[in-house]
Amino acid sequence: MKKNLFGLTLDELTNELTNLKLPKFRAKQIISWIYQRGANSFDQMTDLSKSLRQQLNDNYEIKICKLIDRLDSKDRLTTKFLLEFDDGATVESVLMRHDYGNSICISTQVGCAMGCKFCASTQKGLERNLTSAEIFAEVFFVNEILKQNSERVDSVVIMGIGEPLMNFDNLIKALELIHAEYSLNLSYRKITVSTCGIVPKIYQLAEIDLPITLSISLHAPNNELRSLLMPINNNFNINEVVKAGGDYAKSTGRRVTYEYILISEVNDTTEHARQLIKILSGQLANVNLIPINPIEENNFKRPTKDRIKNFCDLLNAHGLTATIRKEFGVKINAACGQLRSNYLSR
Ligand code: SAH
Repeated sequence: MKKNLFGLTLDELTNELTNLKLPKFRAKQIISWIYQRGANSFDQMTDLSKSLRQQLNDNYEIKICKLIDRLDSKDRLTTKFLLEFDDGATVESVLMRHDYGNSICISTQVGCAMGCKFCASTQKGLERNLTSAEIFAEVFFVNEILKQNSERVDSVVIMGIGEPLMNFDNLIKALELIHAEYSLNLSYRKITVSTCGIVPKIYQLAEIDLPITLSISLHAPNNELRSLLMPINNNFNINEVVKAGGDYAKSTGRRVTYEYILISEVNDTTEHARQLIKILSGQLANVNLIPINPIEENNFKRPTKDRIKNFCDLLNAHGLTATIRKEFGVKINAACGQLRSNYLSR
């Protein structure tokens, strides 16, 4: 079987090519063909000799991922990709064209084990982790499409399917590939990682100290409710999660974002807002309010616009920095694992 070169770092490729006794500069040349010029066959690498191309072709391949389905919103602002990897596993990646640039939301696992009650991605459990190459492939693939119009991926949010911090090492390596100068050369500052609150991993992330943004899915202001909505709260409770967020902000000097889905009559009352203010006050934090995208599997409803605005205003009036998330792709099932779950049911 041929070894896939896609997803190797420069060091790994250099090391790999010593098997063919190639000089070091060849790795640089080849990696730039793959990641910057988008070559997916060795024949395209015209500055390599024919015999070298043949030799590479005999031993290696360049395989990224397969596009299974693509949905474009009417306003063209959102495009959703269903991508398939070698073993038939599928994930979703969503491109959102903001006025400040192209942002892509990517997945880190095939399915998810976290069991959050409001989330479509976790309904069928976890199939497997994505490899670092596969996580990177999501960004690379969409970037190649954008390049056709002289555009690029300007920012990456890791808020797709899966819990990124449960796939920690592959996540970090994928971020390295997205960031590397020989690859997409995207600043770490343009990357956001979202977690449901795997506390020890938040500390590990703080220690690595990449200048990425950390986002924590809170969704409830007390343990009783959070445990109902997010089973992970039984392992790491809200006090530990908020403390880890606070410590992360302190040690890295970077503001943490808390995500809070608003579900009508479940977590959106004035009392909930007061509790939220109490637990987050004094933190270097933003609160991102997300009106829920209802999914079939439960009957959670979205609060009215007024209720959402009141909740937001109350937080802001008490010293928190809260915003309501601008919505993309609800109409094309771009929200949270919906394209994949529909595909699996078909
Ligand atoms: N596991 C990570 C990242 C994936 S979820 C995490 O929990 O943060 C990314 C974000 O989408 C989370 O804030 C998640 O709670 C939110 N989300 C999931 N289902 C949703 C739904 N039905 N409506 C709105 N947001 C949802």
